[in-house]
Amino acid sequence: MKIIVLGGDGFCGWPTALHLSARGHDVIIVDNLSRRKIDVELEVDSLTPIRPLGERIRAWRELTGREIRVENFTIGQHYHRLLTLLQQERPDAVIHFAEQRAAPYSMKSSWHKRYTVSNNLNATNDVLAAIVESGQDIHLVHLGTMGVYGYGTAGMKIPEGYLQVTVDTSNGPCQQEILYPANPGSIYHMTKTQDQLFFFYYNKNDGVRITDLHQGIVWGTQTEETRMDDRLINRFDYDGDYGTVLNRFLMQAAVNYPLTVHGTGGQTRAFIHIQDTCRCIELAVTHPPAPGDRVNILNQMTETHRVRDLAQMIAGQTGVRIAYQENPRNEADENELHVANDRFLGLGLDPIKLQDGLLTEVQEIARKFADRCNRDKIPCASQWRRHA
Ligand code: NAD
Repeated sequence: MKIIVLGGDGFCGWPTALHLSARGHDVIIVDNLSRRKIDVELEVDSLTPIRPLGERIRAWRELTGREIRVENFTIGQHYHRLLTLLQQERPDAVIHFAEQRAAPYSMKSSWHKRYTVSNNLNATNDVLAAIVESGQDIHLVHLGTMGVYGYGTAGMKIPEGYLQVTVDTSNGPCQQEILYPANPGSIYHMTKTQDQLFFFYYNKNDGVRITDLHQGIVWGTQTEETRMDDRLINRFDYDGDYGTVLNRFLMQAAVNYPLTVHGTGGQTRAFIHIQDTCRCIELAVTHPPAPGDRVNILNQMTETHRVRDLAQMIAGQTGVRIAYQENPRNEADENELHVANDRFLGLGLDPIKLQDGLLTEVQEIARKFADRCNRDKIPCASQWRRHA
């Protein structure tokens, strides 16, 4: 298949591009390198020494003989470059990772809120409009988040995107299927909930074939391909804005920095290993919805954990202390999370479990690069709440 990977220089996009290239697909990356520029803004670096995109691509060619082409432009701004790319390349699928993806970053200031909204919403709308204008039947695979559901699910199992509801009418009970009600917890999550409406609309109006993957928090760093050579290494964010909870804990343990647990740590979250992210995306690309199908929504996660349980597990394995801190987020202290993920399991996903891979990650990556860590960048400085 010919596949365009939007955001293919990022944490999920890079290993996915390699995974697909290694399996014989013809891959083209589009990325404006905004994530690397945000590192400059935040005065922080990936814990792992990631190489410039050109060097990554040359190393891949040298090791495998396979070519990945790269285009550097902004999705959501350079519409005609995107449209021309689709017209010339005629891809089977486009995978859309090209969004600002950190909730704390999206809450830093009004500038960051506005940047996140305009970047993410214009990117998604431009991709959909360009697919329609190209006149081609291109399957769009989008990386969404479990966060669109909110986290207060009152014990019910979160379905894969849709909810059956019964409404009382004068003619008796009426059954309907609706999108699971959106409940964003940050500006970033709000853009993801709005993406869902774009998908619903373009699918209904123009028949665009779309798979929306509601992904859990990704942990781990390396995949089969990124491990092949130091020049292919994946990024590892540990800072208070981009560091997702489990990777941040692993690195904190490696440098013996008390694990920062927000509030009681009673928040339950969904997780998936980066290698399984690549496998799920490959499964999604190779199992497109049939023409005329509604938006295909899958929950891309493999296990759920309470944040304080994770902290205790890592503290138990490494001896690091836990530091409970005031929660900067506006969220419930404790929540339950039950998630349906039967569809990926049904397609043959055999998940990597946290218990199996955890210590290897600490040893291989966090300890190896611990001297690159800037301890000042670990705390989360963003505040969700308004202060008087
Ligand atoms: P990332 O920031 O590492 O990668 C995103 C890439 O897209 C970057 O390389 C960036 O330069 C590029 N980009 C951003 N906006 C662009 C634009 N307008 N035009 C061109 N390129 C642009 O993020 P990630 O962790 O790889 O996440 C990828 C996707 O997966 C995001 O949409 C995110 O919401 C979703 N997701 C990630 C996680 C996670 O734990 N990392 C969890 C759930 C969902």
